[in-house]
Amino acid sequence: MIRFDTPIQYLKGVGPKIAALLARKEIFQVGDILTWFPRSYEDLKAAKHISQLKPGETASFIAQVGAIREIPLGKSSRRIHEMIFTDNTGRISGKWFRVPFRNYFKTFKPGDYVRVTGEIKSYRHTVEIHHPDVQKRDEEATLSEGEKGLLPIYSETEGLNQKLIRKIVTLAFENAQDEIEETLPQWLLKKYNYPDLKTSLLKVHHPGENENFTLWSEYKTPYQMRLIFEELFWLELMLAQSRAGIVKEKSPAFKPLLSLAQKMRKNLPFQLTDDQEKVIAEITLDLIKPHPMHRLVQGDVGCGKTVVALLTSAMVLENGYQVAMMAPTEILAEQHFLKAKELLEPLGIKCALLTGSQKEKQAKEIKKNIVEGNAQLIVGTHALIQEDVEFFKLGLVIIDEQHRFGVKQRAELKKKGLSPHFLVMTATPIPRTLAMTVYGDLDVSIIKTLPKGRQPIVTKVVHESKRQAVYGFLKDQLAKNRQAYVIYPLVEENEKMDLKNATDSARHLEKEFAPYKVGLLHGRMKADEKETLMRDFKSGTIKILVATTVVEVGVDVPQATMILIEHAERFGLSQLHQLRGRVGRGADKSYCVLMTSYAQSNEAKERLQVMTETSDGFKIAEKDLILRGPGEFLGTRQSGLPGFRMANLVRDIEILIQAREAAFEILKNDPKLLSPDNLLLHQAIIEKKKPSLLFAKIG
Ligand code: ADP
Ligand code: MG
Repeated sequence: MIRFDTPIQYLKGVGPKIAALLARKEIFQVGDILTWFPRSYEDLKAAKHISQLKPGETASFIAQVGAIREIPLGKSSRRIHEMIFTDNTGRISGKWFRVPFRNYFKTFKPGDYVRVTGEIKSYRHTVEIHHPDVQKRDEEATLSEGEKGLLPIYSETEGLNQKLIRKIVTLAFENAQDEIEETLPQWLLKKYNYPDLKTSLLKVHHPGENENFTLWSEYKTPYQMRLIFEELFWLELMLAQSRAGIVKEKSPAFKPLLSLAQKMRKNLPFQLTDDQEKVIAEITLDLIKPHPMHRLVQGDVGCGKTVVALLTSAMVLENGYQVAMMAPTEILAEQHFLKAKELLEPLGIKCALLTGSQKEKQAKEIKKNIVEGNAQLIVGTHALIQEDVEFFKLGLVIIDEQHRFGVKQRAELKKKGLSPHFLVMTATPIPRTLAMTVYGDLDVSIIKTLPKGRQPIVTKVVHESKRQAVYGFLKDQLAKNRQAYVIYPLVEENEKMDLKNATDSARHLEKEFAPYKVGLLHGRMKADEKETLMRDFKSGTIKILVATTVVEVGVDVPQATMILIEHAERFGLSQLHQLRGRVGRGADKSYCVLMTSYAQSNEAKERLQVMTETSDGFKIAEKDLILRGPGEFLGTRQSGLPGFRMANLVRDIEILIQAREAAFEILKNDPKLLSPDNLLLHQAIIEKKKPSLLFAKIG
């Protein structure tokens, strides 16, 4: 018998070869294909003639393939692929700016009959179609029987065309449809007026006739909405459950001892902002409770999160507990360590630094100090939660720039039987909807205002050809005893090349700006080399710091007033914002130059434009989310953000809110999901017996 968990190759007509192709799409079992959703639909009713096509519409037409060719793009090695389509009313050019898969264009030849679907674009005085779906037809241009209504379109890979995919989907349904049992409680479906699972899955794969194409294209049919709801609902239910679990855990409840913090405050060269005070108060209230704090502090770059973390650590230290502070890079860990030392050691607190690149003997010594309680505030990178690090009495864990860590590390400490308080800090202002899913189990504190006296950073997009003018300006800055960053993008696949670019540039700048000293900072350097370099830059010995993006988060050098970002078009918006945040940290006016070279895509232009228009981190993040989509926005792998099958956090905000409310309310009324009404939820979440096909893959 065929079941959901039957390997897909046992489906009649599939076999090992096709199964291997499907595996590339992460389809291994029969059940997987039911949730491999079409990426769009084609409206067969509305099939058109080429002469009728209008710019802006999504259209479908039947045509014959004409010429297929590659168009070179100037000197660059990139090429545009073109396929001409004709019918007896006219011709239209189809263009591809990237190749769908290797040998894609070899699968067509002039004379083939095809059905073409996509958005019609205007170009000069004519129309074109970009990245259309092209499907081969056996015969010529009339619709055959059975081809009515909406046809699903799946994303193809080499060797897997639409026809074959549809066939496999149909086979999977025929064999396994009796297994499609409802996964959500009836009352919940009724409450939101959603159709049952089986109907929804069937409809999504076979919408059939008389369907509204626009609704389907916008994911607004009840069938799609129900599947999106379910996907988000499971995620939210797990978050709600994890949150409820945290509240029940025990953690040390600290006494409100504030004399150490008071002493620290006296030594600060500035007054805390109202927002900093507010957040310190929120954290302090959490720390005196007997269950673990799980709090996220969100605040734009430069708002002063470090001092907030250190001041709240003081209470924990005064209670005789240890504090562990983790940063995503060694440079940052070192910087925090220095800051902590500066503020805390004069007051008798011992600080330690533990990183992955320390010599074994040294690390051993430090670990000994940690386990014996001689080190009280410990700063480090991931190495801090390695298995062989034991703490004497760990009370608080601070994680800086959390989106680089993901959710896992939190769990790791728990595995060691430790249940400290957690403080997470991020300078990536995350739009509300995203924060709800990524940090759904955290309380959130926000530092909105920057310390007084900061001036807005003047931001300009400058073309490569004006380089000398930029250098002239930079010289003026240096003459005023200020410093600068020059940033190079690092593209992982070609690290060597990138490093060479940065190295060459550093050499070039050295000549250009002699006698000012230029330093080069990159990811392959040893920790102590980096540390020396950063020290020299901070102290002003080095005036220009050429860096790949390791400098991105958190590095703090107030007298640096200029940042020149090379190949700015290659950076994402949030990253540009982070980089820009390296300057404007002192009282002097600061400048950010976004240097561009080649022709850019419209999207890149828009990105750079946004940078010149606003410095509001939240606005920038929202725009970034829209331009890049949620997965890319945080970098799916590090973020712990699930890969969704149908849901889209930008498009489906309303459903997300609905799913979240439903999940949290259910757990509030029935914390252990024991009510018979919630039996299905109990089985899925608690017994883990029948996990839904729509469980998002988290982490
Ligand atoms: P981030 O929030 O990006 O981590 P930092 O903690 O690195 O920011 O702080 C940025 C700079 O602002 C540091 O030099 C810090 O000493 C300074 N700073 C922090 N709080 C204040 C304040 N209230 N007034 C003036 N400067 C401050
Ligand atoms: Mg910081």
